Amino acid sequence: MCGIFVYQGPRSDAAGIVLEGLKRLEYRGYDSWGLAVPGSDGLKTERRVGKIGAVSANDGPIAALNPSNVAIGHTRWATHGGVTEGNAHPHLSCDGKVGVIHNGIVENAEELKAELLAGGHVLASETDSEVIAHLIENLLRDHPLPEAVRLAFSRLRGRNAIVVLSASAGKVLVVAKSGSPVVIGIGGNESAPEYFVSSDMPALLAHTNRLVWLGDHEMATIDGSLKFASTSTGEPISRQSEIVAWEPEQAERGEHPHFMLKEILEQRDAVQRAINQPPALLDEVAAVMRVAQEVCFIGCGTAGAVGRIGTYLFADIAGRATSAILGSEFKNYRHSLHERTLLIAISQSGETADLLEAVDIALARGSRVVAIVNVPGSMLTRKAHYTLLVQAGPEKAVASTKATMGQIAVLGLLAHACAGQAAHGHALLTNVASHIDALTTPDYMGRVARLANRLAGEDDLYVIGRGINYPVALEAAIKVQEVSYIHAEGIAGGELKHYAIALIQPGTPCIILASNDDARAEILSNAAQVKARGGMIIGVGPEDNPIFDEYLPVPDGGGLSPLLTLIPMQILAYYLACARGNDPDMPRNLAKSVTVK
Ligand code: GLU
Repeated sequence: MCGIFVYQGPRSDAAGIVLEGLKRLEYRGYDSWGLAVPGSDGLKTERRVGKIGAVSANDGPIAALNPSNVAIGHTRWATHGGVTEGNAHPHLSCDGKVGVIHNGIVENAEELKAELLAGGHVLASETDSEVIAHLIENLLRDHPLPEAVRLAFSRLRGRNAIVVLSASAGKVLVVAKSGSPVVIGIGGNESAPEYFVSSDMPALLAHTNRLVWLGDHEMATIDGSLKFASTSTGEPISRQSEIVAWEPEQAERGEHPHFMLKEILEQRDAVQRAINQPPALLDEVAAVMRVAQEVCFIGCGTAGAVGRIGTYLFADIAGRATSAILGSEFKNYRHSLHERTLLIAISQSGETADLLEAVDIALARGSRVVAIVNVPGSMLTRKAHYTLLVQAGPEKAVASTKATMGQIAVLGLLAHACAGQAAHGHALLTNVASHIDALTTPDYMGRVARLANRLAGEDDLYVIGRGINYPVALEAAIKVQEVSYIHAEGIAGGELKHYAIALIQPGTPCIILASNDDARAEILSNAAQVKARGGMIIGVGPEDNPIFDEYLPVPDGGGLSPLLTLIPMQILAYYLACARGNDPDMPRNLAKSVTVK
């Protein structure tokens, strides 16, 4: 959620480098931020509440942190303790010499706090994080920094990632992780290496694409070289760096006013890349699916809706019954899992805490796991038996668009592979992708923007679909909620008469997803029922109809229609956010990869 960015190397403007790194993590969502560098008498820190975007490296207090060859920085998404400067990280020990930045939740913080207070420590913040600095301070009496960090970290419960800087240990940094993501970037050259640490890989790309992902219960000591060890035993371990093919400019906003818009416009390429899966891998995963007794998609938020879309795709294309469960609900099904259960875990970041927990449960029961994920090297790719990379490139807007589309495309391809028709599926998907451009022309975008202006003052919005358009409606409603904050709900057309029609009043906007499929006649009947109660009908699909008060045309995508129907819904959400004065990239209270539970 919150972000970590750290530099150690030959450059003397470490605070500026870290400040810029934190700005690249802005999109993840945060409420306060801070930096620390070593000083002559303890660590020097600068912590603030609010946005970092406008702050420059020349800003007085930030500039005063330099010159320094090492700096740690953090953007906080408060879990324990209010949003105040005093609760912003880095947190320091009593002597001011140990500084800690922390992502996650120390679940046993209260117990540790009581112990520290009894031992005479004074805690300056309300956070769970601060205890870590004080625990390390105690342990430094008898141990060198890496061992002190290891022993302190071993006492923390929960999913955590920390970076520790100690004024007494010069520029040495120690990183440890047990759940929350951490990536180390190696830049510079052999005689003058530079090291970066971040909670999120795209933030490193401006500096290097040579990366090492730290695994759970692993730590790294950066002291001009890089050493890895187990946090459980302290034994050294070896970790290889990987070169990631993402380009730094893919992670930049360029000329676009928002990342969300940029990413919506990149979707044709995203679908095209997503369907270029290694054929042997695709065949292998399809074979695993065929022998599985049960197949279950899991995901959270938008990826949860993608899983539900998957159930329709597999039933329709491969004649295969599957189920979809939310990552956070999955543990309730643990007793139904066995060796012949196949879990298909869907994620953008591959770091979603609820999803990783579900995968651990499935692995413990001997089930097989396939990951459909965007971020290479992420924790999900390490846990899964097979990984189909979505390859959408860095996605920075909190509301997922291109990664979602890539996930749906991978599911469409896999469903065809399961039916023994991978090549045919690839051709169909290529054809559908070729229609995406028609949905992102300035004319079309303008049409959706005008509709958004008309709807911007509404309090409620319903998206109604049948068949595969039911989960598409769920995802459309998620998009609208996320960035416009309008109350939006996805409703199955058939359920209207059971409850939802009670909500319709004169003027209530209802988006009717009417593809050219066998649900069309029935969804138009639903539209008529809504219209009879005064609802305003916005039709979305390949054919206009007199019942529509507004109409957004969408090319006919056949059995893969979600790849087209969703696009005007994403664009609508984007323009609704803009029309209501919201920042679509950083919706309130939300964060990009949800690494806490
Ligand atoms: N639990 C910590 C806090 O509230 C860290 C939150 C975060 O991951 O940003 O300060």
